[in-house]
Amino acid sequence: MKDNGVLLIVDDVQSNLNVLESILKDEYELKLASNGKEALEFSVLKPIPDLILLDVEMPGIDGFEVLEQLKLNPKTMHIPVIFVTGRDAISQEERGLLLGAVDYITKPIRPVIVKARINTHITMKHQRDTLIHQATNDQLTNLSNRHHLIQMGMTIFSKAKRQEEDFCTIIIDIDHFKTINDTYGHLVGDEVLKSVAIALKQNKRAEDIVGRYGGEEFVMLLDNCSLNNASFKAEILRQRIQMLLPENIKVTASFGVAQLNNSHTHFELLLKDADDALYRAKKNGRNRVEIHNL
Ligand code: GH3
Ligand code: MG
Ligand code: MG
Ligand code: MG
Repeated sequence: MKDNGVLLIVDDVQSNLNVLESILKDEYELKLASNGKEALEFSVLKPIPDLILLDVEMPGIDGFEVLEQLKLNPKTMHIPVIFVTGRDAISQEERGLLLGAVDYITKPIRPVIVKARINTHITMKHQRDTLIHQATNDQLTNLSNRHHLIQMGMTIFSKAKRQEEDFCTIIIDIDHFKTINDTYGHLVGDEVLKSVAIALKQNKRAEDIVGRYGGEEFVMLLDNCSLNNASFKAEILRQRIQMLLPENIKVTASFGVAQLNNSHTHFELLLKDADDALYRAKKNGRNRVEIHNL
């Protein structure tokens, strides 16, 4: 994939698509759509576009409607949209910008100007993505950070309550990690944390969220997962970590599992039940899974 990013270009006139394609194809990965319906379909297909160049006048769903739809979908609402249009009436430009377009370019297009404007908005998009990544990920392990875990936990919690779905949480704490640090040094300890993080990431479902909750403590959020399945998953993870031997060091972890129930009025209470189970796992000898019972 070209490093600069992915552009979705939408225009019902093939020759317009050809012009834009020829001036942009060397720098960007391009997706081309010839109507509003395709634009909406292609905007959610991976690779998700970093920017959309959107024609206004099209038969069927016009560009303004496409933008309105994009803004309603959490997957596409943050994609910057530039209108490229033959309409140059000020009122049209106003309408486009008020709907949330980042820019408005009128045809006939001038290649140097189009490229420069796209470049500016792509740069801002990448900067924004980087900021979001830094705000939500843990630097050492690249897993979700504590803040993001809690945000996601609260979101899943509300949805699971509303829709009466299963939701389980697992807390994972490395055993005697202080001894590992004291014996091999802090840098080796960091490598152990990274290895455990990779193992957790590799052994989760795509929809599960895993993050570093604190120093040597991890949390996994399992949306739509029964207590049985979550406990089974925890046992698999326990075995995987035991087999890891990062830096040739014997590493184990203890696990606490809890399932959402009526006593949980907010996410922190579910987390606390998982933590209570973890405490029992430690007390009962470590390198084991304990499940919170009602
Ligand atoms: P237990 O089995 O009861 O969990 O014992 P433990 O030694 O794992 O737990 P304790 O809470 O006593 O020690 C955790 C240690 O984790 C202490 C702290 O220095 C270390 N730690 C926290 N964050 C990091 C980190 O980012 N890197 C490294 N190398 N060590 C860390
Ligand atoms: Mg058109
Ligand atoms: Mg520990
Ligand atoms: Mg701990």
